[in-house]
Amino acid sequence: LHDQFESEYHLPSTTPDGKAIDLMLNAGLDLQTELDSARYCDGVGLYRTESWFMQKGTFPSQHEQEQWYRQVLSSYHPAPVTMRTLDIGGDKALDYFDIQEENPFLGWRGIRVSLDHPELFLDQLKAMIKANSGLGNLRILLPMVSEVGEVDESLALLERAYYELQQDFPHEFSYIDKPLVGVMIEVPSSMYLLHEFAAKVDFCSVGSNDLTQYLLAVDRANSRVANLFDCYHPAVLRALNGIAEQCQAANFPFSLCGELAGEPEGVILLMAMGFDSLSMNFSALHKVKWVIRRVGLKACQQLLAQCLSAANAKQVHRLVRDFMLEQG
Ligand code: PEP
Ligand code: MG
Repeated sequence: LHDQFESEYHLPSTTPDGKAIDLMLNAGLDLQTELDSARYCDGVGLYRTESWFMQKGTFPSQHEQEQWYRQVLSSYHPAPVTMRTLDIGGDKALDYFDIQEENPFLGWRGIRVSLDHPELFLDQLKAMIKANSGLGNLRILLPMVSEVGEVDESLALLERAYYELQQDFPHEFSYIDKPLVGVMIEVPSSMYLLHEFAAKVDFCSVGSNDLTQYLLAVDRANSRVANLFDCYHPAVLRALNGIAEQCQAANFPFSLCGELAGEPEGVILLMAMGFDSLSMNFSALHKVKWVIRRVGLKACQQLLAQCLSAANAKQVHRLVRDFMLEQG
């Protein structure tokens, strides 16, 4: 399969009946592998900035961040790089930033931390904007958004970052390349706010890992309930399908960057829902492209209809497995 991928990587990721899907990379863990992978993908759909913060012993300075981000942005240029602002808390801890909580997944996570520490958030935003100067392929993604006010506050801080950069560096930043801004859809409340988000930001990206955890009330990191964590639960599929429908109706660009986007079984269902941008780990790129180039969209849509009305996740798994066997 891998050899076949090598011979196919330059071919478009398009279904036999002509539907093109953007294959984006989830990155942030292993810079060298990721940089080598630039030619295999259409850009970065999720750059997890916290991964790098987690490897450090202290908060990196604005200057250090700027250099890091510039390296990443220029490696993929002109393809877009979607950098997510710091998403710590929950399962992601920094040794130098203590968060002790009874229920970390329901606690101080993602954008909540950034908005409570505007000095850290502004540092990160300014570093990203500076790094993007002259390149213009940066997109900024806000994690764990659960209400409209968080988007308003984040956008206000972004405006402040632009303003302060122009004050401090009037020559370099007389003109600023403003990035597109998006929100993660990974908290159930955000599924009901898509209309408002569409009016305020440029795109959204579904975090199916957290969305599944919160919809099913199953801790994604607890092995005792791991068998209950299932993105193929009909309720999760209906939620994803509803998001796709609403985004299409509102003309709001949407994609998905959870693990589901890296599973051929998931890709078949997501394509049928209308997701045409999927972001996944490097190791998934070849098998996902392989599937996209061989499975027709029409057939996927019939399968999706059956899965949406399935009784449970087990039945969905059986339907999808039989479909894959049928398709060879
Ligand atoms: C998600 O929640 O699906 C996601 C992509 O973000 P993370 O896995 O980093 O929480
Ligand atoms: Mg998440």
